[in-house]
Order: sequence, then C-alpha cells, then structure tokens
Amino acid sequence: MSAMEGSATDTLTRPAVLILLGPPGAGKGTQARLLEARFGLVQLSTGDLLRAAVAAGTEAGKAAQAVMEAGGLVPDSVVLEILRDRLAQPDTRAGVILDGFPRTAGQAEALDALLSAQGLGIGAVISMEVDDAAMVARVAGRYSCASCGEGYHETFKLPRQSGVCDQCGGTAFKHRADDNAETVQARLSAYHAQTAPLIAYYAGRGVLQTVDGMAAIDAIAAELGAIVQTVTA
Ligand code: AMP
Repeated sequence: MSAMEGSATDTLTRPAVLILLGPPGAGKGTQARLLEARFGLVQLSTGDLLRAAVAAGTEAGKAAQAVMEAGGLVPDSVVLEILRDRLAQPDTRAGVILDGFPRTAGQAEALDALLSAQGLGIGAVISMEVDDAAMVARVAGRYSCASCGEGYHETFKLPRQSGVCDQCGGTAFKHRADDNAETVQARLSAYHAQTAPLIAYYAGRGVLQTVDGMAAIDAIAAELGAIVQTVTA
C-alpha cells in the first residue's frame, strides 16, 4: 500500500494513468510523490522496484544489477515482469503515475496491452523538458531519506533541520550508487537513444503534454495537478 494513501487532499472521480517522461534528474520522482500525496495516485517507479529487487537478491535483481550500475537499460522482459506484479496489487486501482516507465518502444507497447486488459487507458504522458547540462549536478548531489524516501539535494534542497528528514524525522539518508557523474552520462545517452523517441510516439496518439522541467518544483506541481484534473474530469 502506498505510504500516502488515505491522506490525499483532492479526490479523483475516476482512475488516472499518467506517465512522466524525462531524463535522470528531470524531477519525475519528486513530482510523482507530490501527485501521490495530493490525489492518492500511486507512484510506480520501475527504478525503485528494481532497486528493491537488487536489495532482496531476487532473480530479477540479479539480472538487473550490473546493467543498473553501468547506467544502461535493464531488459524489457525483466522490467515488465516487475511492473506487471506491481500493477496487479489492489492499491493501484485509484490510478498510477508511472515514473521511469516505459523507457523503450517495446515497453510502451506492452503497457498498452497491460492497461487495456484492465479496461484502462493512458490519461496523459508528460514530457519534462530540461537542459541535459544541468542534470549532472542535479543527480550527483541528490540523496533521500532511508525511512520514507523523501528526496533531498546537497545544493538545491537541504532538510530544514540539518540531518533530520522534514517528512518523517528520520536521521538516516542514502545516496544511490548510480547517481554519480559518469553513470549519469550513460543514463542520459540511454534516455536519448531509447526513451526520447517515445515523445513522438505519444504525441502521435494525442496524449502528450509538455512541461518546463527547469521551472520551480511548486510551479511544475501546479501544472501537473491541472493536467490530472483535466484527464479525470
Ligand atoms: P531510475 O530510478 O528511474 O533512474 O532508474 C534507475 C536504473 O534502473 C536505470 O538507469 C535503469 O538501469 C533501470 N531502469 C529503471 N526503469 C527502467 C525501465 N523502465 N527499463 C529499463 N531499465 C530501467
């Protein structure tokens, strides 16, 4: 169950499936968490699911670990299995925000099949447009609370009280192994080669929306909130 479930401030009358597209550091995770808190949608991050599989030492985790450390893309079959299992859990019925999925044309096609089997369609695909050059600094400085996952940044977003999580009061923090300058370059290359073509794919389907990912977090959140309200009206 989502940590945020039950605390939504705006209730939706029907489920929404949203996809956040953007390179590493674009702010997909930050915005997904805000939408989760506001609307009770469930953030579904394949990166988080894969990291959990690596930590648990599952077969999927073993298949994914080296590729993730190198900043490449995990094979579609591995990612799809993990996603399918997560989508089958009942808390996703209120709607989901896909954060970091799909990342390839094959994943996009498989997602269509998965959603139509559940009688769902894609509400909106939001492309978060950012400057690549700024992403390295954004990603290299970020870390998160080890208890609740709230994201922080050494330069752009420190906890209000040093060493204490604003959300849950936790005092342990973690830094992702792949959030370093070299791996970010590989992840940006993978994004441009394999994921960015999905922007045109979804534009052709009439579901693409674009936001300025370099704007302030609150301004982007307001824009995304308006999109959610439109697609669920
Ligand atoms: P993220 O947390 O979204 O930045 O993902 C971290 C890493 O997990 C990526 O660099 C990939 O190696 C892997 N990963 C996450 N989502 C996917 C996906 N949809 N397809 C392939 N690999 C993925």
